[in-house]
Amino acid sequence: MPDIDVKNFILNGPEILMQNLVQMSQIDKSATPLSFTKVLRTFILNTELKGEISTSGSSGNKVSGIIEWIGERKDGNKGIELFLRSRSGNKVFIFGENVQTASFNPQKLFLAIQEIPEQCPICKSAIAARDEIIQCPACGVKAHKDHFLEYIKIHGTCPKCQKRLSMKAKNA
Ligand SMILES: [Zn+2]
Ligand SMILES: [Zn+2]
Repeated sequence: MPDIDVKNFILNGPEILMQNLVQMSQIDKSATPLSFTKVLRTFILNTELKGEISTSGSSGNKVSGIIEWIGERKDGNKGIELFLRSRSGNKVFIFGENVQTASFNPQKLFLAIQEIPEQCPICKSAIAARDEIIQCPACGVKAHKDHFLEYIKIHGTCPKCQKRLSMKAKNA
């Protein structure tokens, strides 16, 4: 079975995405159907769903692992949040308009997402999929975690929206 384009499902949120992934995984009778437990608005996977996240443009920039849950974006924007457990650590990824391509292979239970790189507003270099990031709670801008924390320490504001922020922020 070929890979299926799931970019639009991601943009439509976790509910639509999960419904479709489950449906697709049931078409092939020889494959394991995907199952999940829904807790509030988060879909916790009971079946091993492999994930690979890459950033377009930068070669070899890829993280792969196991997707543990898929949920709604906390900033209210269109898309999903996804928790990936990988060898290089566990991380929450936020997807929406930043998705360039997304495909699902129902036989392998494998979800591959390619992101459009975003620029860190502080160092002006591209944010890669494996970089540790932090988001402004007010405007949602993403930045390298170390750079953002350093910036707040010095300026006490977000580099983009200028809102006053304190270092009490929870560990992301
Ligand atoms: Zn940076
Ligand atoms: Zn901001």
